[in-house]
Amino acid sequence: MKALQYRRFGGRPELVDVPRPLAGAGQVLIRVTAAGVCHSDLHIMSVSEHEYRYGPLPLTLGHEAAGVVAATGDGAGHFSVGDPVLVYGPWGCGQCRNCSQGKENYCSHPDGVRPPGIARPGAMAEYLLVDHERHLIPLGGLDPVQAVSLTDAGLTSYHAVKQSAPKLGAGRFAVVIGAGGLGHAAIQILRAISPATVIAVDIAEDKLRFAMDVGAHHAVPGDEQAAETVRDLTGGRGADAIFDFVGSQRTVELAGGVVATEGDIVIVGVGPGRLPVGYRSLPFDATVRAPFWGSRPELWEVTELARAGHLRIEVETYSLDDAPLAYDRLASGAVRGRAVVTP
Ligand code: NAD
Ligand code: ZN
Repeated sequence: MKALQYRRFGGRPELVDVPRPLAGAGQVLIRVTAAGVCHSDLHIMSVSEHEYRYGPLPLTLGHEAAGVVAATGDGAGHFSVGDPVLVYGPWGCGQCRNCSQGKENYCSHPDGVRPPGIARPGAMAEYLLVDHERHLIPLGGLDPVQAVSLTDAGLTSYHAVKQSAPKLGAGRFAVVIGAGGLGHAAIQILRAISPATVIAVDIAEDKLRFAMDVGAHHAVPGDEQAAETVRDLTGGRGADAIFDFVGSQRTVELAGGVVATEGDIVIVGVGPGRLPVGYRSLPFDATVRAPFWGSRPELWEVTELARAGHLRIEVETYSLDDAPLAYDRLASGAVRGRAVVTP
């Protein structure tokens, strides 16, 4: 089968032929119908060999997956061949305290979380071997191309926003930094589950327009004036939650500069930015969180939001042969929403 692999440190992803995997005991083989292109893949492909701590090379990319069940191993009887499914990506041990609550994203097993496309062969291929049927949820009438990025762009944003929702009542302010794949989902989720005013910040003009198109109340250029503009929009009080989908030095400092007393700074972007935290370095009782992905129950919830029409991932599609181009476009900031590969 065809697969898109990261093969050499510093190299580009390459299309290669690899053997089609077989479903062993407890496993499910799916024929991939859609696989999302995430900025995290660019991070994986940008670290040096010395810093690299992901799956062994070659690594088949793709941690957002939708597909159709193609084969089931012994003991995996919940789904039948032909069933359309979404894949929950943060595969934990399934047994520890966090996993048993469905929070496999916070698996406490020493091996940690082992997602496809990051630690295991991923979804940028004709077939994906899913380690256990508990990682699958029914697609339930959603379109796979539209829905595939609910599994990361949607789920990660939902998890980030949901934990801060108690601080986002009427008259409150949320800031979304970076209106890309995750950010445009976060704006819609904020609008769906909170009455807060949503302020988007991005460095790209077209992304600011995009943010308004998907529901932001205000769009602020991410320049030197950004903190002042955001503070003005909040009447000088600051924002009650800031979701940083970049994580650069500039953006974490912006978050620290606009957070209100008792506000949340939620750093989701995996950039190298660092925010010094100590007494009076931030307004009183401000909280800083750095969440990872989301739980299995939250994946069900975010698909319900999509089904109810509250969340629509904007997609552009690519064949597996053209997938390297999708990565080039993502790196240059040209993708509006999410690039999705349809093998
Ligand atoms: P993306 O490329 O689709 O979007 C990034 C957006 O940020 C773009 O619109 C870009 O114009 C904007 N941007 C860049 N620099 C900026 C700045 N200084 N100020 C304001 N806006 C800026 O990326 P994505 O796929 O949405 O991923 C976003 C980040 O989230 C990445 O760092 C990714 O690795 C990370 N991520 C984290 C998790 C997690 O669990 N924590 C999960 C998935 C992705
Ligand atoms: Zn676990």
